[in-house]
Amino acid sequence: MNSLDLTLFPFKSIRPEQERIAKKISNSYNKRYHLLDCATGIGKSPLAVTLARSEGRSVIVTDSIQLQDQYERDFYDHLLNIKGISNYECSLGCSDRPCTVDKRYYRYCLNPEKVDEVCPYLVARKEAVKSDVVLVNYALLMTTLWLTEDKAGPDMGFVNQWLDDRHTIIFDEAHLLEKHLVSLCTLKVSVKELDEKYHIFKYVDDPIKREYLTRPLSETTDRVKFFNYLIDICRIHYEEWGKILEMEMPTNVGGAMPADLIKEVALAKEFENILFILNTYIKSKDKTTEWILSMKEEELYDKQVYIGKQKYFYLQPLRVDWIFDRFFKKRFDRFYFMSATILDADLFCKTLGIETDQMSYIQEESPFDPAKSPIIGMNCCQTSYQSLQNEDNMRQIVGAVEAILQMFPNEKGIIHSGNMRISKYLQDHISSKYASRLLVRYGAKTNREIFKEHTKSRRPTVLVSSSMAEGVDLKDDLGRFQIIVKMPFLSLGDERISYLANNAADWYSCDMMKTLVQQAGRATRNENDYSYTFVLDKSFSYYLSNAQNKGWLTNQFCKRVITPQMFIKDYKGKLN
Ligand code: SF4
Repeated sequence: MNSLDLTLFPFKSIRPEQERIAKKISNSYNKRYHLLDCATGIGKSPLAVTLARSEGRSVIVTDSIQLQDQYERDFYDHLLNIKGISNYECSLGCSDRPCTVDKRYYRYCLNPEKVDEVCPYLVARKEAVKSDVVLVNYALLMTTLWLTEDKAGPDMGFVNQWLDDRHTIIFDEAHLLEKHLVSLCTLKVSVKELDEKYHIFKYVDDPIKREYLTRPLSETTDRVKFFNYLIDICRIHYEEWGKILEMEMPTNVGGAMPADLIKEVALAKEFENILFILNTYIKSKDKTTEWILSMKEEELYDKQVYIGKQKYFYLQPLRVDWIFDRFFKKRFDRFYFMSATILDADLFCKTLGIETDQMSYIQEESPFDPAKSPIIGMNCCQTSYQSLQNEDNMRQIVGAVEAILQMFPNEKGIIHSGNMRISKYLQDHISSKYASRLLVRYGAKTNREIFKEHTKSRRPTVLVSSSMAEGVDLKDDLGRFQIIVKMPFLSLGDERISYLANNAADWYSCDMMKTLVQQAGRATRNENDYSYTFVLDKSFSYYLSNAQNKGWLTNQFCKRVITPQMFIKDYKGKLN
């Protein structure tokens, strides 16, 4: 095979833009890497399925279970969709899934005389091994890559064999790959957890424990010393723990483990992940350019009730090229990256450590009419850290939001607040006239909860969140307007982000622009759909022209941007 086989396209007809992309792929079929920068509305999923079927044994990876379900609904006959174990009913009725710690359960669970029904989780895994095309989410793929690398090896048994002999990988939403590579090798743990959950300190001398447990965590804490200390005690602990568990294991191979032991082994396995990242850090060639060690304080909730703050230690990979190399380049022969927000192809290649001449870059503009989803640069609010502490400025933000809500009294919409402080301020200060329309993601309230309420309610509800740029489909009447309050820069509170912002300015502003393009695409979802996007931030015009100069934006996106005067002249009349 030296071209894309379009007879495997899963629909009866193919759109002209899909055909153009397919032709370009065929023209560069000999390349190992293909970057498909295709805007919303092109229909990337049927192309992903065609690619996967043309390539033979392959994996399609996408970002969320919702996106997986969408693929499965549309292409049921052409792929096998698998999810993590918690998504399947355990036919033994066990909530703690004993099979994940004791492989002998597989035999037990597959024996039709012992269980009423054969386990759907095991059936799905067996089917996946046979299927040429497997669909997974990033989280499951990353876990499986880990388990099948040097951590546990063949001992993990057939549940992970679905990844064997697959030489092609297709990344849907590929702009999120870097984030997933970072989380694959990120360790986040508090001393409290290490002590109370994993009990690591029972194997060490009290003075050391006292030093790290009682001393207030501060910027002056010697992080390298701390992590070296942590690695030492974790190793000792893991060895000791392993010996104890071995002694407790039932000797009868046909017998199952007692429930308490299952819980203990599960905990030890969780702890194994901590050790894996610590070992990866220890083995890395250049710790200072590959890793960043940091500390952070986070709010804790128990059943939506605030219970205090917890300090965490973070070990994060700084760059991801070495992770991509270790987990992907060595395993797969051919790669397809698909996204609507790549923006900078060279930067994308550099991030993953791919030579640009090895990558075929294919770009296709959105077929949507820009006039149907104008982006209005309101240029009316400051959103720097200092400005957000200023009460007058915050009131101005509220005023601008109220004015837009007034223009859309009967329509649903979304406010991309930019951060939690703005979300909370809107919740607390919006006029009572509009307050009941807002569904705010704050505290323990999740995006999933407010989105569910938004889709169910017949009222003109408005979502307010700082993290709904991705994976939210506000098609047709679910979203007729959007307000982007603040340029969606990543928080500099994260030390990895702060390092990159200072040392790779283009990476930082490109990431922000990707999020903004994603936000601006939430409410117009098909060719007949329409919506209005208002950007309040005064710095919008600066970052827009910067992105235009760097060639990050498509013509279609640029044509969507209009001034408030143009909006009043051409559109506002239609709303009244
Ligand atoms: S393999 Fe057994 S223990 Fe595991 S989920 Fe299936 S039925 Fe439950």
